[in-house]
Amino acid sequence: MLVQLKGNSKPSERFHVPTPAARIILAMGVFEEYVNPNTFASSSLTPLRWAVSSDDMGRPDIHAICDKCVSIVGRTIFTSPTGTAYKQVFSCVHHSNVRPPKHIAEAYKESWQRFSGNSARQPYYGKK
Ligand SMILES: [Zn+2]
Repeated sequence: MLVQLKGNSKPSERFHVPTPAARIILAMGVFEEYVNPNTFASSSLTPLRWAVSSDDMGRPDIHAICDKCVSIVGRTIFTSPTGTAYKQVFSCVHHSNVRPPKHIAEAYKESWQRFSGNSARQPYYGKK
């Protein structure tokens, strides 16, 4: 990742930092990621990848993955204890406040139905 001191736009004073280290450096708040404006224009067209999966409890989650910054903030897992993960929004440097697309929201709701249906039937062993 190319970083620079915040507000310092001199090209000669930007430097490359491996992503894991850059993450720490950026968290200190003194540096910012330098994003070439031209790159930015095209990368904002980077499609987000979405997926519905389930955690080890069988509860569905929604995954949002931005390929451009996958190892930093680009991978987000939306979970919800009440089945409303599809209402959450994804943001990274390339996308802001993107809601899951309709087919993902539908798939999530379907999985949630199955999940909540299953848990309603589950107290089999606890039956009197
Ligand atoms: Zn991104």
